[in-house]
Amino acid sequence: MDYNMETLLPYIPPSEYDKVATDFLETYYPDALNKPQAIPIMDIVKDGMKLDLKFVCLSEEVDILGMTIFDDGLVEIYNPEDGLYETQFFKKKTVLIDPEAVKKTNIGCRNNTIAHEAVHWYKHRMYYKMQKYSLPKKAKYCKCNINDFPYMNEDESIMESQAVGIAPRILMPKKPFIEVAKAYDIKSVEDNWREISEIAQLFDVSKQSVRIRLQECDLL
Ligand SMILES: [Zn+2]
Repeated sequence: MDYNMETLLPYIPPSEYDKVATDFLETYYPDALNKPQAIPIMDIVKDGMKLDLKFVCLSEEVDILGMTIFDDGLVEIYNPEDGLYETQFFKKKTVLIDPEAVKKTNIGCRNNTIAHEAVHWYKHRMYYKMQKYSLPKKAKYCKCNINDFPYMNEDESIMESQAVGIAPRILMPKKPFIEVAKAYDIKSVEDNWREISEIAQLFDVSKQSVRIRLQECDLL
């Protein structure tokens, strides 16, 4: 994999997303590559990657799923009791997940959001480290929205696309996923909604995530 040598932004074409997901699992949870199972992504993030995972509300509109904090600093979070935004200090290596936002969207189920933030730390921490020196005043965190990437610059959009693409591949690694889907003999969403639902349960992801993964693996 290549990097932009100036910014340390990694170039990861979509054709390499499965490889990155496999490398990630080989490092943190190799058993997932041999046996179809729900990936204990919360444990991986906390115990394997040593990230501090916190569940806090991030916006009034409930449209920010998560954040990864790359350097110590102040971050704006939302206090639903007072209905006010407040600034709080967080240390680097903290991941914030909005528990209400992850309930709102199908693709953005909780595990997928945690895996998404894990990808940001795994692949993008060097970029943010570089930013600390080149643009010291810039925020040292990434903020992941439910919808498109409205306030992002080009680098941030690239990293967001990478995290969106790689997270489900960590939760449903290609080989065991194909094995399971073939065993269920999936033909179509209409005929196999029950099987799709079972696969979603097995990997502890949303049904919509399974459908997308089936299409990516040419199984639908
Ligand atoms: Zn993101």
